[in-house]
Amino acid sequence: MPQNDVPVIEIRNLHKAYGALEVLKGVDMVARKGEVISLIGSSGSGKSTLLRCANLLEDSQAGEILFEGEAVHWKGEGMTRRPGDHDQLIRIRTNLSMVFQQFNLWAHMSILENVMEAPVTVLRRDKAEVETLGRDLLAKVGIGDKCDVYPAQLSGGQQQRAAIARALAMEPKALLFDEPTSALDPELEQEVVKVIKALAQEGRTMIIVTHDMRLAADVSDHVVFLHKGKIEEEGPPESLFGNPQTDRLRQFLSHSQ
Ligand code: ADP
Ligand code: MG
Repeated sequence: MPQNDVPVIEIRNLHKAYGALEVLKGVDMVARKGEVISLIGSSGSGKSTLLRCANLLEDSQAGEILFEGEAVHWKGEGMTRRPGDHDQLIRIRTNLSMVFQQFNLWAHMSILENVMEAPVTVLRRDKAEVETLGRDLLAKVGIGDKCDVYPAQLSGGQQQRAAIARALAMEPKALLFDEPTSALDPELEQEVVKVIKALAQEGRTMIIVTHDMRLAADVSDHVVFLHKGKIEEEGPPESLFGNPQTDRLRQFLSHSQ
């Protein structure tokens, strides 16, 4: 259950443009410890951009991002201003593990090597320890027997579960999912949904961009509906899905069944 301490991630009045294209027009979002937030909205509404800004994969033009109450100094590649900014960037990014629609596993590494790579090279953790952790995590997501195979030998659902194990191996403060089930056939989708639900039940802090309204309704504490770079409506899933207040959300929901 959410706790009332300092948010893991807080975004205030974020503005992001690509050239003349304004993608985020003053977005606020808070993820507290143990909270699951779903981000919904039409294609092009800015969901991925918001997630990538939160993870500092994208710079932004205005607004603030705070990680555990600490203001992020980084404003974009090549614009590091002070000693220590790069350390902060790495620290925050490693604490917010991302899971992508296309899994993004390294094709030339075994599944276990994929999971071990970042804890060993970025966090410089002990290899044997990370191997034990990696095997445990792969077992946890139901593919403990796939440690030594390569990504191409797995189904999409198995690859995505491996990608989730890889994200968990960083022992992050929050997990960020960008359409984790969109590339999967319906029957494979469910095996990934099951893992995400189990993580929610463990009290993980998560922000999930999803087109799957059932998943959003089932796992979220809070749902955010983004429309053209602005939050059009937000609230607990019961009210957002059960009693939408805006025409835009009603229209969006009627098209996403
Ligand atoms: P969503 O994830 O909600 O579908 P995105 O955040 O991917 O939306 O994209 C929002 C808008 O920003 C879209 O119009 C998209 O074309 C544009 N956009 C996204 N990434 C880039 C980029 N790297 N360069 C230019 N425009 C981009
Ligand atoms: Mg997207």
